[in-house]
Amino acid sequence: MALYVQKFGGTSVGSVERIEAVAEKIKRFRDEGHDIVVAVSAMSGETNRLVALSQAISNQPSPRELDVLLATGEQVTIALLCMALQKLDCDAVSYTGTQVPILTDSAHTKARIQSIDTVKMRRDLDAGKVVVVAGFQGVDQFGSITTLGRGGSDTTGVALAAALKADECQIYTDVDGVYTTDPRVVKSARRLDRITFEEMLEMASQGSKVLQIRAVEFAGKYNVPLRVLSSFEDGPGTLISLEEEDIMEQPIISGIAFNRDEAKLTVLGVPDVPGVASRILGPISAANIEVDMIVQNVAEDRTTDFTFTVHRNDYDKVMKVIEQVADDLGAVEVKGDNTICKVSIVGVGMRSHAGVASKMFDALASESINIQMISTSEIKIAVVIAEKYLELAVRTLHAAFGLSDESLV
Ligand code: ADP
Ligand code: ASP
Ligand code: MG
Repeated sequence: MALYVQKFGGTSVGSVERIEAVAEKIKRFRDEGHDIVVAVSAMSGETNRLVALSQAISNQPSPRELDVLLATGEQVTIALLCMALQKLDCDAVSYTGTQVPILTDSAHTKARIQSIDTVKMRRDLDAGKVVVVAGFQGVDQFGSITTLGRGGSDTTGVALAAALKADECQIYTDVDGVYTTDPRVVKSARRLDRITFEEMLEMASQGSKVLQIRAVEFAGKYNVPLRVLSSFEDGPGTLISLEEEDIMEQPIISGIAFNRDEAKLTVLGVPDVPGVASRILGPISAANIEVDMIVQNVAEDRTTDFTFTVHRNDYDKVMKVIEQVADDLGAVEVKGDNTICKVSIVGVGMRSHAGVASKMFDALASESINIQMISTSEIKIAVVIAEKYLELAVRTLHAAFGLSDESLV
């Protein structure tokens, strides 16, 4: 008999009926004799509703109080799910992050898990109970409630599986696995039977929201077998596997990720002297803002242009900071665009194949899509394009690399 950690996302517990359906699913596993620890999200829309409430009071609420507020969403779900399990005569007990406890650092709204105490969970499992833990939340060393960043229940699930040395961490969601790209954008996207951790990490970091990036990092680091499945229907889902060789006939490209939440800033006519990059980016990192892509052109006339991208939410803030820096540096002008997006192709097969980039650029050119920036890693090529071309670019690349399920085209 196995120990499974099962994580159910917002849509999967979006109503009382859905919670009862999840309880039935869990009960079936229990009846087969497996031990089950569950991590749940807030009911769909709830976390957004709570964020909106806080925004109605302040656009910069205290991060500590925001965490106290946001953590309530998951607390509702654990209680309702336990009630639904108990109604099915399935013994169950709920825990908030603080009760487990799931110890995190004190970085409110983006805390990292440091350790998980498994004593109570082990005792409950031994007593034949299903353990239901609130996802997305923990507690810091001072006893303050913390949250793990949006989508963080995935990370709770994986971290519980690592701490309990579970046989598998199953992420139940509203799609039946990881697809070649978001099936909401490309109808002919195909479910992948397997994908490597490395590729999944790249897909998540390039914008595929099916798994939170930290969850994938965690699973890779602690070797947690991870599977994405549908909570609505039965099926094998997608296994995130450690071994590249496990995957037979590896295609060149495994998937396409995209991210709409991008903005681009360019400082034009910066003097080409040492230390400029650090003077431009220093104040941005000091403001705790993450920079994604960076491009600096070759200097021709002792000046250069410096372009970088940030999250769209940070655009206004960064523009203010950069206008000041540009002034100090004697740069000519600052330009910005917050209507861009990033599209990335990902695949370990790229390592052993030439011509992948040119194929990507040809495909985009054939639809007259202008590439504004390019960045590459060993298994990824990402381009920045105008946001209005996002869907067209993803569909075009999906077809160009032969990823579509032919029966759906
Ligand atoms: P949950 O609430 O269960 O955590 P999410 O909304 O966070 O669910 O993640 C599931 C969604 O991720 C899907 O509905 C799908 O639209 C989106 N998604 C994006 N990229 C992919 C992909 N490559 N494969 C599958 N789903 C994807
Ligand atoms: N409820 C949180 C969110 O909406 C965490 C999660 O669902 O994973 O981001
Ligand atoms: Mg999610």
